[in-house]
Amino acid sequence: MSKNVKLIVVTKNFNMDKIYPIIKAGHINFGENKVQEATYKWVDFLKNNKDINLHLLGKLQSNKVPQAVNIFDYIHSLDSEKLANKLMQEENKQNKKLKYFIQVNISEEPQKNGIVANKVKEFRQFCVHDLKLDVRGLMCIPSAEGDPSQFFKKMAEIKKKNNLTELSMGMSNDYECAIQNGATFVRVGSKIFTES
Ligand SMILES: *Cc1c(COP(=O)(O)O)cnc(C)c1O
Repeated sequence: MSKNVKLIVVTKNFNMDKIYPIIKAGHINFGENKVQEATYKWVDFLKNNKDINLHLLGKLQSNKVPQAVNIFDYIHSLDSEKLANKLMQEENKQNKKLKYFIQVNISEEPQKNGIVANKVKEFRQFCVHDLKLDVRGLMCIPSAEGDPSQFFKKMAEIKKKNNLTELSMGMSNDYECAIQNGATFVRVGSKIFTES
């Protein structure tokens, strides 16, 4: 894997005893998709292990924002003005800055979360200039059907247009294709845990 691509080991549904060996081997970036599960698993461990970066990958509900700001370093699911406002307020309360990815609904599926492509610029401006959130890049979960490369390519274009540095895309099934198209963070879970 290119040194410009960082691997987030997605640990949802796995207990800490499955995760410790990976930490011991020196891995730093881990991802969870639920605030509750992440808190339960990671909160005590993180108190004595400040080097670990924990990434929230799943939908963030407003009422979970205080817990999320407390435990996570990165949030990949920034997807509404309401959520952005709430995160800004909570950062101020806890005197902590997180790093953010704007989630893009790149395949424009109605049931999916995320900002549509032609609204990303305006949303990024709002988050960065009005709220001072540290937005690093864009994240997507493209439709599971068909060839994802068209979506990854579109993501790379939107990233460039918006002067962002990071692209969070690619999971067990499509991380190679994502890397070929410019991913800087890939999020891999099942492939790591079921083949080891
Ligand atoms: C579960 C999950 C992943 C990892 O998926 P795998 O198919 O297990 O590699 C990546 N991103 C998000 C948002 C997830 O919820």
